[in-house]
Amino acid sequence: MKSNLARGRNLVSVLLFTVLLLFVPFGAEARTRARIELEIPDIPGYITLKCDFHMHTVFSDGRVWPPIRVEEAWRDGLDALAITDHIEYHPFKDDVKRDLNRPHQLALPLARELGLLLVKGAEITKKVPPGHFNALFLKDCNPLDRENYLDCVGAAVEQGAFVFWNHPPFRQKDHKSIWHPEHTLLYEKGWLHGIEVVNGSDYYPEAHRWCLEKKLTMLGTSDIHTPISFEYDPDQGDRRPMTLVFATEKTEQALKDALFARRTVVYARDSLYGEKRFLEPLFHESVEILNPEIVIRGKGATSVQIRNHSDIPFWIRADGELEELAIPRNLALPPDATVILRVSGKSSDREGELQLHLPYRVQNLRLSPEEALPVKLALKVTFIPEKQKK
Ligand SMILES: [Zn+2]
Ligand SMILES: [Zn+2]
Repeated sequence: MKSNLARGRNLVSVLLFTVLLLFVPFGAEARTRARIELEIPDIPGYITLKCDFHMHTVFSDGRVWPPIRVEEAWRDGLDALAITDHIEYHPFKDDVKRDLNRPHQLALPLARELGLLLVKGAEITKKVPPGHFNALFLKDCNPLDRENYLDCVGAAVEQGAFVFWNHPPFRQKDHKSIWHPEHTLLYEKGWLHGIEVVNGSDYYPEAHRWCLEKKLTMLGTSDIHTPISFEYDPDQGDRRPMTLVFATEKTEQALKDALFARRTVVYARDSLYGEKRFLEPLFHESVEILNPEIVIRGKGATSVQIRNHSDIPFWIRADGELEELAIPRNLALPPDATVILRVSGKSSDREGELQLHLPYRVQNLRLSPEEALPVKLALKVTFIPEKQKK
C-alpha cells in the first residue's frame, strides 16, 4: 500500500501535468500569433498608416511564400503592404511558376481577413542607370514585362501606378547616389513620383535632398528577402523601416492619393525623416506636458513632467536659451513614458506670470540631413521673488 505522502506526490504530478497541458500550448500559441502594436498618433486631418511597400517572395528572390508577408506585416503592427517581386529576375523559376500577378493573388485573402491593405506592386529591375523602381497600385503586372525601361515604366504609369526609385546608390560608383539623365527623363515626363530615402539599414542623405528639391515622395522600406524576424525584433523595439502615410481614411484610394500628394514620413531605426508639416504635428500629438503651469521661486527649481504617448523615442536638445529660465541642454523622452524636465529661475527678484516657449530641437526628427525639427514647449510660469518666501 502506498503511503499518504506518495499518494500526495502522485496527485501533485497529475495536477502539474494537467496544468502544463492546459497552459503551455496555449501560451505558445498566443505568443507566436501576436501583433506588436505600434503606437504612432494620427495628426489633425489625417490618419497615420504604417506601411512597407517593398518586399520579396519566392516568386522572385525572396525566401518566403506570399501570405507569410501579410502575417509578418500584421504582427509588426502595419496597416498596408505591397509585395514587389522582381519582374525580370526569377532565380526559382524551375520550382515556382513564373507568374507576375500570382504573389498578390495568393496573399490577398489573408490581407482581407486581417484587415490590411495589400497594394499590388512589382519591382522594375533594370541595369544601372536607371536601376530599380517599384510600381504600386498596378492592375496587371504583365504589361510591365518589357526590355526597355521607358516602355516598362510607361506601362506602369498607363495603369495609374505610383512609381518610386529604389536604393539609389545600388551598383553605382563608390556606392554613391548619382542622378543620371535617365532619371531626369523619367522625372520630366512626370513618371517618377518618389525615392527611397531608407532601404533596409541604409539611409540616403542625397535621396532625402532630392525629394525636398524636386518635390518627390519620401519612402522607407524593408526590401526584405528573408523571413522578417531574421532581421528585426519588434519585441525589443527593433522595427523594420517603414513609410508613415497620412491618409484621409484607411482605403487603397486614400493611400494612393496620399502618396501622390507627398504626405509621408520615413520611420527607420528610431529616426523620422519628413517635412515640417507632418513631423511637427506628430511630435505635438505624441508629447504632452502634464503640468504646463508652474511656479518658480527666485532661483529655485521645479519639475515639469513630460509624457510621451507614442512608441517612438524622442531626443530633444536645447536650441538657444531663455532670459527667465534655466533649461536642461538634453533630454530623452522614451516611448510610452513620463520624464522630468527640471527648470530653475535665473533671478531672485522676478515677479509675475509669463507664457514661455522653451526652445528645443528634436534630434531624431529630421527635416533634412542637416536640420532637426525645432519645437517650442509651452509653459505658463508664475515667478515669485525670493524675499516673499518667508
Ligand atoms: Zn532592388
Ligand atoms: Zn527589392
